[in-house]
Amino acid sequence: MNQILSVKDLQVEFFGFKALKGVNLEVADREIVTIIGPNGAGKSTLLDAIVGKSPVAHGHVEFQEKNITNHPPHEIARMGIGRKFQNPNVYNELTVFENILLALKGSHGIFASITAKLTTMKRHKITSVLERIGLMDDAGTKVSSLSHGQKQWVEIGMVLAQDPTVILLDEPTAGMTPEETHTTGEIIKAMSEFHAVVVIEHDMEFVKQIAQRIVVLHQGQTLAEGSVEEVQNNPKVVEVYLGR
Ligand code: ADP
Ligand code: MG
Repeated sequence: MNQILSVKDLQVEFFGFKALKGVNLEVADREIVTIIGPNGAGKSTLLDAIVGKSPVAHGHVEFQEKNITNHPPHEIARMGIGRKFQNPNVYNELTVFENILLALKGSHGIFASITAKLTTMKRHKITSVLERIGLMDDAGTKVSSLSHGQKQWVEIGMVLAQDPTVILLDEPTAGMTPEETHTTGEIIKAMSEFHAVVVIEHDMEFVKQIAQRIVVLHQGQTLAEGSVEEVQNNPKVVEVYLGR
């Protein structure tokens, strides 16, 4: 398979504490990789290190065969790695449509973006993003009146609006109802038609719904890797994670 993101022997330290102790991760084009593991395993730190937000002490991150280790976050975002954080980071007082508009590439701040005349191309782009996150009917709704789950989808839409090659999602279903969680799974599966997606998740039903390949992190190291069945039947995984 065609690898687009490659993490090799990655080590991250915080004041002498080794949060990542040599993690490897390969992501192919349009693949969904799910990362699971107990709290504190280093999952968020791994995504932070990929996007330049945690300093890499050793090892490297390659994106489309370029070494991007410790490059500034804005540069990594511009190159095509999009990241959604655990809590929705949306503009509550603006509409769903305006939130997506602001996230488009080449957007110049809130006032200029909202008052400027919209090109047909931008309008099409926003419409296609709204369709993908299932919020077409809420285009004109203020984000503050959406459910928590819908806000998470708006933020996924803001990532999609930037046309990333790889999308990193940190616990995208946190705080969602079971129905919203299922819908999120379908959104992510559809995303993999155009993007590679790396998802941190702990809900095993959701993992089964979306997962093609699972990586299990534990205490800053890769404990196991494989299909849902392989990982669930791995005695090491059962011991430290599933058998809690
Ligand atoms: P996970 O996302 O798997 O729950 P994290 O990646 O958030 O775990 O954290 C891994 C370990 O690194 C934890 O012990 C956490 O306390 C520590 N850690 C994460 N970020 C920082 C930071 N900025 N400063 C110090 N320690 C951190
Ligand atoms: Mg985390």
